[in-house]
Formats: sequence, C-alpha cells, structure tokens
Amino acid sequence: ISLGDTYKFYRERIDKYNNELNAFLQVRTFSEERQGFPYAIKDNILAVGTRTTCASRILENYDSPYDATVTQKLNSKGGQLLGKTNMDEFAMGSSTENSAFGPSRNPWDLNRIPGGSSGGSAAAVAAGLAPFALGSDTGGSVRQPASMCGIVGFKPTYGLVSRYGLVAFASSLDQIGPMTRCSQDAADVMSMISGHDSRDSNTIRHALSFDTSLGGNLKGLKFAVPSEMLSYPGLDEEVKEKFLSITRDIERSGADVEVISVPSVEYAVATYYLIAPAEASSNLSRYDGIRFGPRQQSEDYEGLTSKSRDRGFGKEVKRRILLGTFTLSATYYDAYYRKALKTRRVMAGELSKVLDEYDFILNPSSPVVAPRIGEINDPLAYYLMDIYTIPANVAGLPSISVPAGFVNGMPVGVLITGKRFSDVSILDAAKGIE
Ligand code: GLN
Repeated sequence: ISLGDTYKFYRERIDKYNNELNAFLQVRTFSEERQGFPYAIKDNILAVGTRTTCASRILENYDSPYDATVTQKLNSKGGQLLGKTNMDEFAMGSSTENSAFGPSRNPWDLNRIPGGSSGGSAAAVAAGLAPFALGSDTGGSVRQPASMCGIVGFKPTYGLVSRYGLVAFASSLDQIGPMTRCSQDAADVMSMISGHDSRDSNTIRHALSFDTSLGGNLKGLKFAVPSEMLSYPGLDEEVKEKFLSITRDIERSGADVEVISVPSVEYAVATYYLIAPAEASSNLSRYDGIRFGPRQQSEDYEGLTSKSRDRGFGKEVKRRILLGTFTLSATYYDAYYRKALKTRRVMAGELSKVLDEYDFILNPSSPVVAPRIGEINDPLAYYLMDIYTIPANVAGLPSISVPAGFVNGMPVGVLITGKRFSDVSILDAAKGIE
C-alpha cells in the first residue's frame, strides 16, 4: 500500500468514528496529494492551515500563524497532519471534560472519559483513527490518558523536545511527547521530534539517538516502587492487585523489584498545584481581548479585559488563574509559592538519589481505571489522582506509561520513570513489559 492510501485509510476511519468519539476537533480536508505518514496533534500545538483552539472559547478562531517545531520536524520527514485533537481547556484537567467543545469518549467504553488532558490524542490512537499522536504533559497529560486508553504515552526528559509552538501552560513542567501503540513507535517518533532548537532556550544540546531497535531485556534491572504510592488511599484495590501481578511478571523476567520509601512524593500533588497554577496565571495573562481573544466592548480597559476573559475562559481555567494569582501575591508568596519551590527541590533530590541506586521507579500510571463521564465533579478529586505522574514533571525526568492489561474490561498502565537522559533505556524497559 502507498502512503497516500494510508492517509486515506485513517481519514476514512475519522469520518466514520469521530462523531461518537469526539477525538478530533478539526480534520484536514482530504486531498489525493497527501502522500506521507499520517499523524495527529493535540490542539495546543501550532500547525499552519489549522486553528489552534486549546479547546477554549477564547482561541476558538485563532489561526496558527506558524508551525511548531515538532510539526515542522514531522512534516519535513514526510508527515501529513490528519487533524487536531480534543483536550481539556489549556491542558488543565485529567478527563477532557474541561473542553469547551464537549468531552472525548473512551473507545473501550463510550460512557467513560479517555483521560486527559491529551484525551483526544489517546482516543484517536486507541481507536485507530491515527497511527500516532502528540500530546503535552505538564503533570501527566500524555501518560494518564495513554494508560486509560491502553496505549503507550511517553514524557521525555525536560528539554529534549522543543516547545516552540506549544501553547504554554506551566513552562517549567511542559513537555511534548508521543502517544503510540507500542514503545518502538514512541522511539521512532522521538527520533523525529527531539533535539536542540534555538527557538526554545530550554532545549538541551545533548544528542540522544532514538534511532534504535529496542531490545526489551529486563534481566538485571532494578526497579524501586515507592511505598507511599502503594499505600495511597485513593488506589483502587483491583488496580493495585493488577499492578502487583505485573511486578511479579517483571521479577520473573530476571529483574529486581523492591518497595522503598520516598517520603517527598506525598507532597507531589500539593507542590504541583501551587507551581502549575502560578505559572499558568502568568502565561494566560496574554488572553485579554487585546493581544489574543475576541474583544468584548466596555468603557475602560479593566472592563474590556475582565469581560473578555470572563466570556472566553471556562470554569477550571478561571479556578487555576485565581489560585495562581493568589499564591503569587506579595502577601502569600513566601507561604505558598516559595515553599513549593523548596519542596520541588527536595523531591528532585530525593528522586535522583533513588535513581542512583535503582534503574527505574515503578508505579501504577493512575490509581483508577477511566471513570464515567460526569462521575467525578469535584476538581480536587481529579487533582489527587495525579499523584503517580506528577513527580516526573516536578523533577524533569523521563517517564512512560505502558499498557499492562485490563481491570473490569478497562485498560490500566504501569509507569516507569528514570533519571534524566535515560530516555532510551526507559523505552527499552517499556518494550520488555508491554
Ligand atoms: N491533570 C493535570 C492538571 O490538570 C495535568 C495536566 C497536564 O499534564 N497538562 O494540571
């Protein structure tokens, strides 16, 4: 089959199934010239010829003015964009229920969420509407939806993939990563999108070659399971059982799995939900109806911006902006934001010490299988569920969610996190587990 046929194949599947999945917010028109390997990207990544809405009313009509570096890199290798995928508004959420354009649905059970915030990308890949997709991961948004949809989701070491053309959420945490059907595909996508970029000063001049055929040998590897993560009260009993059975499989493959204590991970969620909203409140100040976003009429500047922002932003985004501006305010800065930065440093130090002794940290990707749409409406309940994915972002570490079977018919994943620049070894270990 030709590449043109491949594009057509996926394009037709999108036409057939996207109505029920709501995985894509926009699809490119089909043309016979689209000869190339098809792919999808989350709607917070710029691609000329598409709008980039971030699933927000405030960017509903925003045309991408240029290509993100990742888009440009994929296209230069022969990629052909299929379309832009649904997400939680500005990547804030864990379910895609915060999309201004309605939630995506989990292909394994249409009454359930696909996870989030890159839920559209996960649903698209899991349902075979795209061979792979890109997502963004600030606190787990590539890995958690991957686990809930039964695919691979990889967050690279902070700085390995350029964020030029990714709409910023929390810049010290954001990373773009591949969502694929297997770890070898993730390595192949990484070989196309990673590398230093003069337009993202946080990218690293540290050549890692992903151009490799993964072996998947687990023999002799040492995995550490943080006891704090096993005793987390929100961890579903059956998900825990499944995870423990995977650790036994891993041991049977000749690796060593040990439960150890990593006390600071108990503070991961609190730390993240101070730092991420603080950075977001600053990054989102540009959506004021003047620089970005539809302008509402008013007598004065104050009225104009507040009306425009009130109309344009959804509930969760407003909540985060309020949290962030509060913790950054002069009165509370020391009590909250500065303390979170300190905790961040302690946690990064502790994790790096563990990773001097062990090859990887191992834990479930999510404490539960995908909930039903609308089942959880307390935002804090969703925040607490991020405990397993957040440490990697806080410390800038590479981390992957690998499909690990099913609980009550829904996919679950295990999460492998490694030291900085151990990306290729992580993908290799993932291959051994999947
Ligand atoms: N669920 C987390 C949040 O809502 C992570 C989001 C992300 O990684 N973009 O902030």
